[in-house]
Amino acid sequence: MKNPHSLIRPLVHNLRAYVPGEQPKTKGLIKLNTNENPYPPSPRVLRAVRAAVDGRLRLYPNPTAERLREKLARLHRCKPENLIVGNGSDELLALAVRGFVEPVGTRSTASQPGKSVVQYFTPSYSLYPVLADVHGAMKNAVPLRADFRLPSVAELRRGQRWNFSAALTLVTTPNAPSGCGYGTRELAALCKSQRGVVVLDEAYVDFADENAMKLALKHPHVLVARTFSKAYSLCFQRVGYFVGHPELIAALHKIRDSYNVNGLGQIAAEATLGDLAYYRANFKKIVATREWLSRELTKLGFRVLPSRTNFVLAKPPLFPAKDWLQQLRCRKILVRWFSPPEVREYLRITIGTPREAMALVEAVRKTLQALESKSGRSSKLRASILTDCASLPALSCRSVQP
Ligand code: PMP
Repeated sequence: MKNPHSLIRPLVHNLRAYVPGEQPKTKGLIKLNTNENPYPPSPRVLRAVRAAVDGRLRLYPNPTAERLREKLARLHRCKPENLIVGNGSDELLALAVRGFVEPVGTRSTASQPGKSVVQYFTPSYSLYPVLADVHGAMKNAVPLRADFRLPSVAELRRGQRWNFSAALTLVTTPNAPSGCGYGTRELAALCKSQRGVVVLDEAYVDFADENAMKLALKHPHVLVARTFSKAYSLCFQRVGYFVGHPELIAALHKIRDSYNVNGLGQIAAEATLGDLAYYRANFKKIVATREWLSRELTKLGFRVLPSRTNFVLAKPPLFPAKDWLQQLRCRKILVRWFSPPEVREYLRITIGTPREAMALVEAVRKTLQALESKSGRSSKLRASILTDCASLPALSCRSVQP
């Protein structure tokens, strides 16, 4: 009998898998943890998908998502050859690592070590290091500024940690999880300074004021990643795309699965592009709710970072963010907490509907009131209780099972 453990590559044994946000089974929770859009797809999209559920499910879908690429090409004023569609933009990010980065130890990397480097800022999308590890590439994680802004090229040169020859540089713009938006000018300067491929991951860009699409159509080494998941309420269907130079795009087509985008996903995405006005109205609602929530949480003592996305990163008052996560869960609200040191004092809160945002504010208020009533009027006693997290479980955690 073979020992299954011994059949698995050591690289896989040592791998730390990506941890997706929780999709809870408990009903009645308000989900503000995975940056999903709180509004449903447009009625036209739902009709198109329903109408496609017939005998066609027997057939393979179009292998290159041809009609969708044609429509996207019209939207972005480029050619279908500038486009590849993926099973979510996650698939395309993985393909970029496989297509442009040499695993460590291959012959060509000895003289050009940058060829095996996947580079990114921290904090940014936590999938990037996992993709590099899966491929056996080197990681170069370089901190953003303390306020999560992009360091300038001059600062990167001075810092001497940034690799201007990295085979692949992944930039989350606007940034996740901070929500910080970046200007096209600073991104252009960064792109120009790189010798390898740069992917500008614009998963949240529809909630921002600027996007950098023109850089992908101008520079042969720049790709822009977009997704239908966030702004277009289509996480379930898994559709994302890259825009860039036809030669880079053709390389990725070569290594993708033959039918990488499911048929209903293609139909849903095409119908989405036929009803952009519906989605633009939703962006406005989400941005308005974001600004309202930021103000309300600030009044309650949170430090809320300015956001150009459909989430905010907020540092809660009085006790650690990780305990707030639990407290809010007890009050039926799911948000996200990340353990890396630069973000561990914060919660990432997805912008929901106005009603969900109000429920969150109410839950925060109740948590603070519960602490207040425990501590009474003595500020000394209050301070000691507020810093004493052992007292938190007493704040009724009965109604929700984790
Ligand atoms: N980029 C970033 C920054 C993200 O947060 C996500 C979603 N987790 C993605 C890409 C991937 O989105 P999808 O695969 O759903 O298109």
